[in-house]
Amino acid sequence: MKRKIAIFGSTGSIGTQALDIIAANPDRYEAYVLTANRQSTLLIEQARKFQPAQVVIADETKYEEVREALADLPIQVYTGQDALCDVAQNGEVDIVLTALVGFAGLRPTVAAIRAHKQIALANKETLVVAGELVTRLAMENRSAILPVDSEHSAIFQSLMGEDFGGERREERRESNVLDLQKSTKEENVSSLHNSPLIERIILTASGGPFRKFSLEELKSVTPEQALKHPNWDMGAKITIDSATMMNKGFEVIEAKWLFGVEADRIQVVVHPQSIIHSAVEFRDGAVKAQLGVPDMRVPIQLAFSYPERLQSNFPRLDWYNMSDLTFEKPDLQKFRCLALAFEAIQRGGTIPCVLNAANEVVNLAFREGRCQFLQMADIVERTMERTTFIAQPTLDDYFAIDSEARRIASELI
Ligand code: NDP
Repeated sequence: MKRKIAIFGSTGSIGTQALDIIAANPDRYEAYVLTANRQSTLLIEQARKFQPAQVVIADETKYEEVREALADLPIQVYTGQDALCDVAQNGEVDIVLTALVGFAGLRPTVAAIRAHKQIALANKETLVVAGELVTRLAMENRSAILPVDSEHSAIFQSLMGEDFGGERREERRESNVLDLQKSTKEENVSSLHNSPLIERIILTASGGPFRKFSLEELKSVTPEQALKHPNWDMGAKITIDSATMMNKGFEVIEAKWLFGVEADRIQVVVHPQSIIHSAVEFRDGAVKAQLGVPDMRVPIQLAFSYPERLQSNFPRLDWYNMSDLTFEKPDLQKFRCLALAFEAIQRGGTIPCVLNAANEVVNLAFREGRCQFLQMADIVERTMERTTFIAQPTLDDYFAIDSEARRIASELI
């Protein structure tokens, strides 16, 4: 039977690639829900092509345009942020791909989890902001979260087939975020949390376009330079986050929550070629990694097809002509955002939420020419110092702290 997929953020970089996968596998997948924020023309085009049951255009000013353009088709058209939560719970949907950007992903993701959906998680900000709450809800609702981020997919693939049940059956948790029960080992990741089997996670980073720049040179880099990522073609926000290495900091936090490994056992390694997508070192010293051409369609497709692997015509690694694979330590003086993310996860509570909110504000300000590249880390740090701290936040607390942090960061610019 075809699996029905809801794509949140269908007009973005991940969303359009997900639609390519659905188009290439029409017997397996159906685009059942599509959502966008403002790109009405592209959403209409996608809806006419894929004929989903429901579409949401989040920006209310675009609603009439989308509704009229699709009036001849049996497609329900909605608008607004509440509608995103409603369609996330549609009883027909099997998989929700969260490919919208930023804090806006939190509410629909929580709604989908509460409706027991399988989540293909691209929207890492959800786990950065509220990782503890979201992973707890996922366990309570037996909602599997499958990573789309290439690094986390690589870690996930490196963990496949390992027996995490062996010596911790007594103390294992009822379920885990990564519900690998469909995999070869029945006990598998149900006791992954803080597993002694994993010694370290090696999270690789390209280092972004400014890896070799001096601090002096970083002072004057422009948004145009920062938007040219050496290896990946991504949306604007994550491309800037990659240039500051805030993205890697977010990924450390994401890995902590997905795989139950504390941040001090997650080592960031700069690997400019982006061929090794990440690795896991086990307690016997063995290291398993996943490699490939940088192509997001591979992890997106696996998040849909797991535990199967589908045939694809995506580019293959050319082993005879591969350039050298090199590895470096990240420079935390130049890329302070990465250090701030480690600090945020160590302090816990609402601090990672503040980190994310302040980052969204400065990221946009930098793109709009209202703030310098190095100022971004300064403002995020000062916002982390000034915002109210809540040790054990509720969902409502996250919304309140997100607003407070955005206000403070905006004032600091
Ligand atoms: P894009 O900016 O390319 O696309 C974002 C999508 O989300 C668009 O469809 C956009 O709609 C929609 N959107 C934005 N804001 C809102 C909102 N407030 N409400 C509803 N919808 C909204 O982003 P990416 O595809 O690059 O990234 C998406 C997520 O995936 C991010 O969290 C990113 O960190 C993560 N990710 C991305 C990777 C990549 O290769 N691109 C790799 C790994 C993770 P519209 O087009 O109408 O504005």
